[in-house]
Amino acid sequence: MKKNNVILLGPPASGKGTQARRLAEKLGIPCLGTGKLLRLEIEKGSEVGLEAKSYIDSGRYVPDETILKMVGEWLDGNSEGWLMDGFPRTLKQAETLQELARPGLVIALDVPREALEGRITKRRECSSCGVTIAVNDLSERVCPECGEEALVSRADDALESFKVRYQNYEELTVPLFDYYRSLGILNVVDGTKSPGDVFSEIQTIVEG
Ligand SMILES: [Zn+2]
Repeated sequence: MKKNNVILLGPPASGKGTQARRLAEKLGIPCLGTGKLLRLEIEKGSEVGLEAKSYIDSGRYVPDETILKMVGEWLDGNSEGWLMDGFPRTLKQAETLQELARPGLVIALDVPREALEGRITKRRECSSCGVTIAVNDLSERVCPECGEEALVSRADDALESFKVRYQNYEELTVPLFDYYRSLGILNVVDGTKSPGDVFSEIQTIVEG
């Protein structure tokens, strides 16, 4: 079992993407994000990319088979270790991955729904300099970066899209916890701590 085959699981807005980038850099292994991979394959115009594009262009979800074909090809070129962020998303994907290349370690960020919603509510974007920050005072309008009174909230839209994504996560991805627990490779990390503390904990698990 390869310990440097790592899967990172976590709900939307849990900071999973940031942790994945840091960990991949630290371990010197490539990070697979299926969204990014899809874009690359479409840009290249590969067979699987064109297949995916036909679904996206007609407003449909890219099916598991296409995603798995793409991931399979990616794994062929990255057999020396990898980190997966946002894949597998479903039990079917996880079971197929098990046949392609076995993960050695699964790290799941645990953040309660209320905490995730709180993070989204505090998020502000500066319409002057473009920075994204978190405010403690919800009525704050002045950007700490550029000093302009230009902070805007997209919390309503963001919360709506979060609710859909969170429901998908609960229905499709949370069952993977039991699956990986039964394989003995699940590690749950408290994701409510600061990004630095979360990363230290992840590092301890990976090195342990
Ligand atoms: Zn600003």
